[in-house]
Amino acid sequence: MSPHPPALFPLFADLRGRRVLVVGGGAVARRKAEALLQAGARVLVGAPVLEPQLAQWLAAARIEHLAGTFAPEWLDAAWLVIAATDDVATNRAVVEAADARRIFANAVDDAGLSRFHVPARVERGPLQIAISSGGGAPMLARLVRERLELQFDESFGALADLLARNRQRIRARWPGLDARRRGFAGLLSGPLQGLLRKRQHLAAERAFDDALRGDAPPARGSVALVGAGPGDPGLLTLRALRLLNEADVILHDRLVSDEVLQLARRDAERISVGKHAGDGGHSQAQINALLVALAAAGKRVVRLKGGDPFVFGRGGEELQALRAHAIDCEVVPGITAALACAAHAGIPLTHRDHAQALQLVTAHGRDDIDALDWSALARPRQTLAFYMGVAALDQVQAQLLAHGMPATTPFAIVENGSRAAQRVVAGALADLPALARAHAVRAPALLIVGEVAAHACSLHWFGREPLTTADAASPLLAAA
Ligand code: SAH
Repeated sequence: MSPHPPALFPLFADLRGRRVLVVGGGAVARRKAEALLQAGARVLVGAPVLEPQLAQWLAAARIEHLAGTFAPEWLDAAWLVIAATDDVATNRAVVEAADARRIFANAVDDAGLSRFHVPARVERGPLQIAISSGGGAPMLARLVRERLELQFDESFGALADLLARNRQRIRARWPGLDARRRGFAGLLSGPLQGLLRKRQHLAAERAFDDALRGDAPPARGSVALVGAGPGDPGLLTLRALRLLNEADVILHDRLVSDEVLQLARRDAERISVGKHAGDGGHSQAQINALLVALAAAGKRVVRLKGGDPFVFGRGGEELQALRAHAIDCEVVPGITAALACAAHAGIPLTHRDHAQALQLVTAHGRDDIDALDWSALARPRQTLAFYMGVAALDQVQAQLLAHGMPATTPFAIVENGSRAAQRVVAGALADLPALARAHAVRAPALLIVGEVAAHACSLHWFGREPLTTADAASPLLAAA
């Protein structure tokens, strides 16, 4: 004997053109009416008065109205009824009258009274996933729904649509169930879904035709240039997460945090290509060659980079190399250090009162620094975000002062932004290198210069208080 009470029988109802009665004229009734309209039902709303949206739909003849209090005759032409009033007795009367006529009834938020339940659902075009806990644990059903929302991206809708349109051809091509199953597996392991994800619908149709003819090219490798964000795995995009779960090989920088790497498929090969002198790191040319070789060997490669691949990440060069070899590519943006560090330090990068522009600047070495337009950088009413600048703070300060930036201009250095070890050092341009030295600031750290940087002290919300003085009385040193 099953330890569970009898389960609900799931079904998807075709309500197109069929009358469905909604009893109630408030917000709940409106939501139900809206879902029913989307399903093509003829919606009758029974209530003394209608809330504004329902009244509008009535005026536009999208719904019909039965005015007054519930009467069993309202059920006369209905296939289904939803009792959506806030009065339990009315809802009960509706369900009982429906029972007498063998019409299925749902009472909103009342599993015990409902003869059918409306499931939580995930919709991807014609593909619908319905979830029910039998009414006993709606929060759990919601949690499952959230997970499914993440798991099935929008390409499933396009896929379901394409398959539905070609149903006859698929059946004709693979008449037996076994053959169909195998053919289908082949279809899904090919490039079809990837093309749908990239919204390349024509190419997807072609890939589908190829697969149907049985002359699909052998599985091709691909490379995704993926931004891993600043370190906190919560700041990955859903797309990055999906690609990490599908990857055969992951090439990552040293900047990518372990927490992020842990989210990748367990058996994916991981290759660290840190580019620091003397640590056996790879040159950019070696990385490009490796990406091309792995993809040519049929691997699904994720090139995982700290922050965003196109912001000081040399993603452009990698994309050029891959395109030159006609390798299948995609680029997934990530949250770049300037955005992540500013957010986690309470520094708005633009502000109506202080800054109308933002410059992302690299201060990597002598050449970078000499090439910068310092008079443009020293102008007021903008925010500067210097990447890779820890070793060059003296030059940055000297150049900005020499080009007329006031010595009182606020700065903030955000070290390990968004991570547990985040530290913020904040002060005025005059004290920049000295304060950073006093606190032994190390990479990765981002320097923000501009009026907005002063907010690091007033708007701080994440991690430790900013360090604002060079002495031991500052909060971090006191705590250490
Ligand atoms: N593509 C990356 C930048 C790579 S350059 C991005 O979009 O963020 C490396 C520099 O980025 C570091 O020297 C540092 O200035 C900055 N950076 C990256 N992650 C950081 C973090 N978590 N905290 C502070 N700075 C960071």
